[in-house]
Amino acid sequence: MSESKVGLIFCVCTGKCPGFSKMDIWDFINILRKSESFAYAMIHPMLCDEDGERFLAEFLKKGWKFMVAGCAPVMQKKLFRDAFAKAGLDVEKDLIPVDVRNMTTEEAVDLVEKTVKEHLGKGV
Ligand code: SF4
Repeated sequence: MSESKVGLIFCVCTGKCPGFSKMDIWDFINILRKSESFAYAMIHPMLCDEDGERFLAEFLKKGWKFMVAGCAPVMQKKLFRDAFAKAGLDVEKDLIPVDVRNMTTEEAVDLVEKTVKEHLGKGV
């Protein structure tokens, strides 16, 4: 059983975005939900919309790190800064943003695994 305190949220831009057309989003999340690096893995359709903000307000909690696989890290930090701050988290430390657009399933899984292991190696 995973003892990780890292949750993976895959934000898919509604699921219709061309940026995710090269991968199978369900294979991607099903492979990673079994990874020891994550406590859980899930898909959200649009974290940067109003319902996404409400979801983050309910969901984020202290003592955890959240990897968001989705758009560019710079964009994610801007979009999620307030939600993390409201939960008492620091977007610079507690968000692990990964850009998985325009990748195949295998490329995206490899990048996520490599990135989370780098963070876990740093004592996340
Ligand atoms: S947070 Fe990024 S990946 Fe998610 S819907 Fe917004 S722009 Fe798309």
